[in-house]
Amino acid sequence: MKILVVNAGSSSLKYQLIEMTDEEVICKGTVECIGIDGSNICHKVNGKEYVIEKSLANHTDAFNLVMDCLTDKEYGSIKSPKEIGAIGHRVVHSGEEFDRSTYVDAEALKKLESIVNLAPLHNPASLACLKSCMSIVDCPNVVVFDTAFHSTMPDKAKMYGIPYEDYKASKIRKYGFHGTSHKFVSQEAIKYLKSKGLPCSKIVTCHLGNGSSITAVKDGKCVDTSMGMTPLEGLIMGTRSGNIDPAAVEMLANFKGMNLKEISNYLNKKSGFLGVSGVSSDFRKLCEAIGNGNERAKLAYDMFNYQIRKFIGSYAVAMEGLDCIVFTGGIGENGSLIRRTVTENMEFLGVKIDGSVNDNAPRGTLVDISAKDSKVRVLVIPTNEELVIARDTKEIVEAL
Ligand code: AMP
Repeated sequence: MKILVVNAGSSSLKYQLIEMTDEEVICKGTVECIGIDGSNICHKVNGKEYVIEKSLANHTDAFNLVMDCLTDKEYGSIKSPKEIGAIGHRVVHSGEEFDRSTYVDAEALKKLESIVNLAPLHNPASLACLKSCMSIVDCPNVVVFDTAFHSTMPDKAKMYGIPYEDYKASKIRKYGFHGTSHKFVSQEAIKYLKSKGLPCSKIVTCHLGNGSSITAVKDGKCVDTSMGMTPLEGLIMGTRSGNIDPAAVEMLANFKGMNLKEISNYLNKKSGFLGVSGVSSDFRKLCEAIGNGNERAKLAYDMFNYQIRKFIGSYAVAMEGLDCIVFTGGIGENGSLIRRTVTENMEFLGVKIDGSVNDNAPRGTLVDISAKDSKVRVLVIPTNEELVIARDTKEIVEAL
């Protein structure tokens, strides 16, 4: 079965066509600037890239262009849309309406419409894209949520200390994000640890990228995670502040003369590595600036490093032990320095890495960077959110 995975943002659409017999990516691409000037598609197949610039007013136009590329006589991969067995859609926020990946029927569609405002930047785009797919291709559609893996969090971990009746009415609580990534890497870690006869019940997964989150996975299930009602909570990130005293938000708004919407934009887009360093939201550029002696870049790095360590420590206590730490995401997979500084002087927790294995870890594959005598395994695992979406979609469609 061929599954098309789509990931719609407010002005972008990423896609991958995957052959599920061998889980090989047949082709993939990105549509950018949907609804704004300069819209284009970059379609990648057999190591070649095809860029087409075309005016695209909305997600229906964008998806039509994707289908044109997929079925193109020269560089297409399928003869007809009928070859697509199912479409799997990434949806950022499920609210309390869904706790797992779900086949889209009329009832699910209604529920999806009821939660568009939970993630105003993302959910409306996913819904628009889903509707376009349903009207253009005649195949089953499945929605896969970033929040679903975290639905197993106990109440004590997911509730905020606000009046309970207000939580019941508003559904405002911690939901967590990057769930497909935390699910994928924790499952890969469990497979690896089992194959070595090692304990695998208490795992901390660190997804470190432009957005970063850390999850405590006990017996394969999420018991806590660093992001909250929105992806702003938790660690300092590329442009997001991460945790901040809620009372300081009002003070900041007064200081900057901003209203609530503006201050939310400031904390989401102007803060984090970018705001603290004044250099960039990009971790590599931050590291370059540190190399050139930039003190504020060093401060942003130190804050990130310190906060990751604090989460690992708190989750080890929450799970009453630690068997494994996983690093993933653009920074976690590629940044040997952050893996080293995060795990430094953690032997009291049973964590010790092999510096040379860490520094020379090949990319794109699972690498065990723990020292031989480390009680806790430390793994680098490339994430694959698209594959989780495709696998969930296949499983659901086959059971229909
Ligand atoms: P992601 O959001 O998962 O795509 O990750 C993007 C982040 O990964 C950016 O901040 C990049 O600077 C960072 N990144 C990519 N390659 C490297 C690398 N070799 N070393 C450190 N950070 C990297």
